[in-house]
Amino acid sequence: MLELKNVNTGYDGKDVIQDISFTLNDGQNLCIIGPNGCGKTTLIKAIAGLLPIEGQIIIDNKDMRKMKRREIAGKIAVMSQLSNIFFSYTVYETVLLGRYLHMKGAFKGPSSYDKNCVDKCLKAVGLLKHKDRQINTLSGGQLQRVYLARTLAQEPSIILLDEPTNHLDLRYQAELIDYLKEWSSKDGNSIVGVLHDINLALKLADNFLVLDKGYIKSYGSASKAVTNDLINSVYGMDVVGFMIDSLRKWERIANF
Ligand code: ADP
Repeated sequence: MLELKNVNTGYDGKDVIQDISFTLNDGQNLCIIGPNGCGKTTLIKAIAGLLPIEGQIIIDNKDMRKMKRREIAGKIAVMSQLSNIFFSYTVYETVLLGRYLHMKGAFKGPSSYDKNCVDKCLKAVGLLKHKDRQINTLSGGQLQRVYLARTLAQEPSIILLDEPTNHLDLRYQAELIDYLKEWSSKDGNSIVGVLHDINLALKLADNFLVLDKGYIKSYGSASKAVTNDLINSVYGMDVVGFMIDSLRKWERIANF
């Protein structure tokens, strides 16, 4: 369970997000939505323990401030975005990095548990047969699955995502969301994510947090938190009208 109580944080002594409180139960997925600059990434960084905060972040009834880095890493993993690759590792080595914080002594090398875990995660994302390939030879979709496997190898119960579908084409976006949805449907796992695409957000999440200028505008299920008027006022446009118009165009194409 993840709880935030009156969390404020920002940069250089200036708060960017303020008075953020919510509870996410085991097995629930949360999407943070709101316009550019409203503080979504900042909130994800705060939950990842990357920014000093006022207030409290509680993971499984324990204050995050009282937890060691290794203990936090056993609960929360951040799935990174596609990034430039300067050094090429194999797929296997990249996923093994997810085990790093669990290894007792990094110099001892991976245990058989670590190796099995990496194989299991590669299998889960359909990349076991590519384990010896260099990651700079993979497609964008395959690479994103390698990052997902690395995140899974950390064996967290909460995955934090910040725009994980950036740079992915439609098929890989849908595939990634399907993998994440499947992972979160087991063992009380949860996802907290920022997704620009509201359609993908609706597919993944059962809870929504709408941020507006650093404050919570609404929180709850889609029908409660993402109402027509609210979403239109936060984004400053007729979002639902835009979606319905797009759908009509697709229907016309499909019926052709
Ligand atoms: P969002 O993810 O919703 O687009 P961000 O959390 O990235 O918003 O940014 C919220 C605000 O914080 C913006 O005004 C941004 O300029 C500012 N900000 C983000 N990162 C930093 C940083 N490292 N240092 C100073 N200000 C930052």
